[in-house]
Amino acid sequence: MKPPAVADINLSGAFYFYVTDEAARGRCIDSVKRSRMVGLDLETTSLDWWNGRVRLISLTTQSGETWVVDAFKVDPAPLYKALGRSHLVAHNAAFGIPYLLRCGCQPRKVSCTRVLSRLLHAGDDRVNHNLLDVATRHAPKAALERLKAGVVDHEAWSRDTLSREELDYAANDSRYLLDIYRDELRVLGGAGLGEVAHLEERFVSVVAEAAATGMPVDPERWGEVIEESMQRKRELAEQLDKLLGPEVEIPEKFQSANADRRDIGKVNWSSPEQKVWAVETLGIDVPTRWDHKKGEERKTLDKNHLHLLNHPIADALLEYQAIANFPATFARAIVERFDGANVYPDWQQIQARTGRMSCQNPPMHNMPKKTKLREAVVAPEGYRVLALDFSQIEPRVLAAISGDRALLRAFRKAIDVYSFVASEVTQVPIEEVSDDLRKVFKTIVLGLIYGMSEYGLALRVHREIDPSIPTEQVVEYRDGFFAAFPEASRWRESLEREFHNGSRETRTILGRRRKDVENPRQRWNAPIQGTATDAFKLAAVRLLERREEVGEFRIVALIHDEVVIVAPEEKADEVEEWARNVMEEAAAEVLNKNLPKKLHIPILVDSGSGQTLQEATENAG
Ligand SMILES: [Mg+2]
Repeated sequence: MKPPAVADINLSGAFYFYVTDEAARGRCIDSVKRSRMVGLDLETTSLDWWNGRVRLISLTTQSGETWVVDAFKVDPAPLYKALGRSHLVAHNAAFGIPYLLRCGCQPRKVSCTRVLSRLLHAGDDRVNHNLLDVATRHAPKAALERLKAGVVDHEAWSRDTLSREELDYAANDSRYLLDIYRDELRVLGGAGLGEVAHLEERFVSVVAEAAATGMPVDPERWGEVIEESMQRKRELAEQLDKLLGPEVEIPEKFQSANADRRDIGKVNWSSPEQKVWAVETLGIDVPTRWDHKKGEERKTLDKNHLHLLNHPIADALLEYQAIANFPATFARAIVERFDGANVYPDWQQIQARTGRMSCQNPPMHNMPKKTKLREAVVAPEGYRVLALDFSQIEPRVLAAISGDRALLRAFRKAIDVYSFVASEVTQVPIEEVSDDLRKVFKTIVLGLIYGMSEYGLALRVHREIDPSIPTEQVVEYRDGFFAAFPEASRWRESLEREFHNGSRETRTILGRRRKDVENPRQRWNAPIQGTATDAFKLAAVRLLERREEVGEFRIVALIHDEVVIVAPEEKADEVEEWARNVMEEAAAEVLNKNLPKKLHIPILVDSGSGQTLQEATENAG
């Protein structure tokens, strides 16, 4: 095809069209309309999509034409309209697509070459997923061009006039996306990852929506919660200092290390070295644990070992450690990622190893339970916050993936699974299972699924339930689990056998793969956790794909197994019930996929709503 005339700079020899006027924009739109898929990359004035502007829209259509549209020179609105009907392929879509969504462009479908690369290599930490790395693997010619394009200083995109090098750079970013994408799909399909790739592609839109919308936050309450925990941290530090007594002499090196820190009294209770010294000064033995990496016993004061101190300092240390990093970590977000109404967390669609989501700044997945930060997530006027959380999803996955009939029956009959397991293992009739015994078995079942060692399991039972239960008893209960559920046991043994025979890969029910599992336990833990992830992601995807059934709402956060939605006040109850059903149905589809109909189990979602996320969560209880 003959290149259309291009505007105001000399681009002789360029492989792309630089669009700076309406005529060229019209031709670009025609090209987009003719193309089922469009590779897209944006250059923007800021990395923060909530306050930056789009500068360049770099597009490559299926016929191989590349267009660089300068949004400072020509209004991109008509182009956005056309892109809304397209299937867009981007690298790191979670960054670019929120810009488009905020400009009113809601693409029909979005694929992310970075997400697909992460999916393909899940479990292999050595693989990088930058555009250059992904191009090297899937479109080597693209990688060469990309290298030639060099690096552009981000500030360039705010300047009136762009250099030829800068335009080349932008054009190169979309130039080979479709080639990379097609090759990724081919490799994923060949590796049996087609179905889960399809799921992850649809989930891109969920992550983009949460990112673009942001989490509605009351900044005053957010600040208060942080101030309260800073205050509490100071109180605890004083309390800890007091326990040391006035006569204690602080070593010179600690004194000088703490000299410039006005927030520190005698001891820096966040410093492992100073903490251990202080505890030993009180005449208490510091517990040790085996350090696998160093191959030696090491002193530890982590939360699971503190109760072993058997001294009031343990409680204060436990609380101090739980909140120590909280103020600084969460205060940052309200400065760096807040637009006056919403906080924009940095959601990551797919973690390196497990395929789960993660979140940075603020790390919503690490929000301590005891803080009241959920009170600071507040619905805007006329709206309500909805929280929807899967109930007991991992034990359900264990039942479904192992096909254990006894466990499946318990779920079908809606018997409380932890009481049921306690009863089967101990032979105590189910109605006589005490709360504590139920809790012990909850810890054991989840501990098994999350690969906790015997030692870790016992520590947890002692810390959280009852320190007087002998460790041997905990171990006996744990071993009793597999004796009581022989089908689950056979499933586990077969996977562990595969590990011993050299297999380091695992698969979920949908085929999600994790490479490089490190021990026999991970060989069967990973598919359980991964299937829970598949179910969660499909549930969230369905919410968006079926949204028109119930009207307007927005997904604003995804925290562990919980979807957080904001819906108009008058529609909130209807949306809540609808969303619960949609999520339960979607997750059940994943878990029951390989089971005969008569063994199918139901999935339950706990939901609640309120003015704040705190209220919504409490009402879901
Ligand atoms: Mg770029």
